[in-house]
Amino acid sequence: MLNSPFAEHRLLNLYFQKAPAMSYQAIARKYRPETFDQVVGQAHVTSTLRAAMARDKLSHAYLFSGPRGCGKTTVARLLAKAINCQTNREGDPCGTCETCMAIARGSYLDVLEIDAASNTGVDNIRELRDMAQYSPSEGSSRVFIIDEVHMLSKGAFNALLKILEEPPKRVFFFFATTEPNKIPRTILSRCQRFDFRLLTRDELGGRMLEIAQAEGATLDKTGLSLLVSLAEGSVRDGLSLLDQVIAGCEGTITEDTVVSAFGLVRSQLYVELNEAIIAKDAARALRLVESLSSTGHSLDAFARGVVSNFRNLMLLKIDPELAEMVDLPPEQIEELGKQAVNFTEQDLLALIDRSGQHFERIHRSTQPRIML
Ligand SMILES: [Zn+2]
Repeated sequence: MLNSPFAEHRLLNLYFQKAPAMSYQAIARKYRPETFDQVVGQAHVTSTLRAAMARDKLSHAYLFSGPRGCGKTTVARLLAKAINCQTNREGDPCGTCETCMAIARGSYLDVLEIDAASNTGVDNIRELRDMAQYSPSEGSSRVFIIDEVHMLSKGAFNALLKILEEPPKRVFFFFATTEPNKIPRTILSRCQRFDFRLLTRDELGGRMLEIAQAEGATLDKTGLSLLVSLAEGSVRDGLSLLDQVIAGCEGTITEDTVVSAFGLVRSQLYVELNEAIIAKDAARALRLVESLSSTGHSLDAFARGVVSNFRNLMLLKIDPELAEMVDLPPEQIEELGKQAVNFTEQDLLALIDRSGQHFERIHRSTQPRIML
């Protein structure tokens, strides 16, 4: 099927649709890691890969699995660069040679990035197999980065297996997936697998603070803490949130800035809700919901927050030392700690259970206010 170089170029155009030309450079792109050391939180993966790279002991196929937004394709691209870099330094790509730059732009012909979610069919993989047989250009290695590889069809996996059984020289496959359980065993057994993990609060917070400073933005503790909570361990989400607040706000970024930028509910509100519950004052609790609704807050987000609020109370009730697991500023943790005394563990268990069930209903409802 690929008997002319033109056919190959047609295919390349198809695959490179993923990289749009953007005049505005999003933070995530601007601060994309250029060496393995700069990848936050995945040292267990990057140190092994860099060592293998430095000793020229790379395997033909790698599977990078883990939650979304924690660096799988970033590491795949770094490795693709390291393999092809003209001035590779102890396993790290230089990031500045012509090859590294071309790979970063998505215009290096021997490094192909394929989104399996939109190229699921066997024909795509057959074309890829033909391309794999086709020698890469002089002195270069061909790398196929297949994102969301679990989305491939059964036929496509079979075609892929044929290539992996006898991988051509200087051809590498880096697969990324959020659902490794959906990948056939026959494929898994031919890959070296690395599991990526979500970032800890410290890792994510540290990275976000660094970037905010580099961008000339000031983030205070409360703003940073809330952003970190919202990102839930994903670097990609964290940087995209940071991008939005930096673009939309002037001056110091505080919890209030983040709350209003994303239409969130202030955490102090849950302290007030708890007061109403402790006082058995239903009218006060209902007025609180009404004030949220009339100021255009997301009731869905509030209902989700109610569940976390009871979870936080439960932790503090069990042991005040568990405060480290509560994502709130210290003064609010102190208030919650005082409130927790008014609940029994059974009460809190029941409240978590019920608010969890009701959150589901509110989330699906077309009348969230009434449900709430
Ligand atoms: Zn280079």
